[in-house]
Amino acid sequence: MLKTPITKALEEMQKNIIAACHKAHRSPDEVQVLLASKTVDPQNLKVALDLGYNLLGENKVQELKQKADHPLLSTAKWHFIGHLQTNKIKDVIPFVKMIHSVDRMSLAKALNTKLEKLDMNMDVLVQVNTSNEDSKFGLSENEVLPFLESIATLPHLKVKGLMTLALFSDKPELVRPCFKKLKTIFEKAKAEAIPNIEMQDLSMGMSNDYTVAIEEGATIIRLGTAIFGQRPTPDSIYWKQ
Ligand SMILES: *Cc1c(COP(=O)(O)O)cnc(C)c1O
Repeated sequence: MLKTPITKALEEMQKNIIAACHKAHRSPDEVQVLLASKTVDPQNLKVALDLGYNLLGENKVQELKQKADHPLLSTAKWHFIGHLQTNKIKDVIPFVKMIHSVDRMSLAKALNTKLEKLDMNMDVLVQVNTSNEDSKFGLSENEVLPFLESIATLPHLKVKGLMTLALFSDKPELVRPCFKKLKTIFEKAKAEAIPNIEMQDLSMGMSNDYTVAIEEGATIIRLGTAIFGQRPTPDSIYWKQ
């Protein structure tokens, strides 16, 4: 059978993951691939699902709702990776196993309240701004530990780690410090051993920089264009630029 471009891209990615893990003396089992599925149609996502890549992430609530119910995608597991508005919480909770982008206490509290009503818990990551750009969402380095202490008191949120959108650059030497910073905060938080807070996941690394992220400890990499090609939409609608 002729290989599709998506199949080839996934094979290439798998080789790169193995090489990066080898370089960093890590096991490839420690790295989960999350496919950022925005703008990709279900037929193409199905190719990845059939190859065993079943963790998908959406950045926008509307698109998540459409895809999560799609019959071709019934084997997918979904994470929400975009900026989440408090009034959209109810549309996200039913579909996802994890929310990567908890970046403020008002959102955490609203999530907890809704989850309590539904008698559910939710895995979440705390989003950190590691590039010091005003334009990025996420807590600054110094805010993370106090935030974790507060969020720990919300019983329906299960913090599993940290997430970042690094500096956007094709120069690894500029991106690497962002990943190192997230890893350092992660280790500090882990050492605090805050009750109800688990530090197991580092969601960092995208198409341009995932091998660097793996070298610096990523456990979840989020890939879109490297697998599915360029998107028709500008990035500015998914994150502030
Ligand atoms: C789209 C998206 C990605 C993947 O971006 P690529 O550059 O296409 O790999 C990663 N993280 C988030 C939050 C995204 O929205």
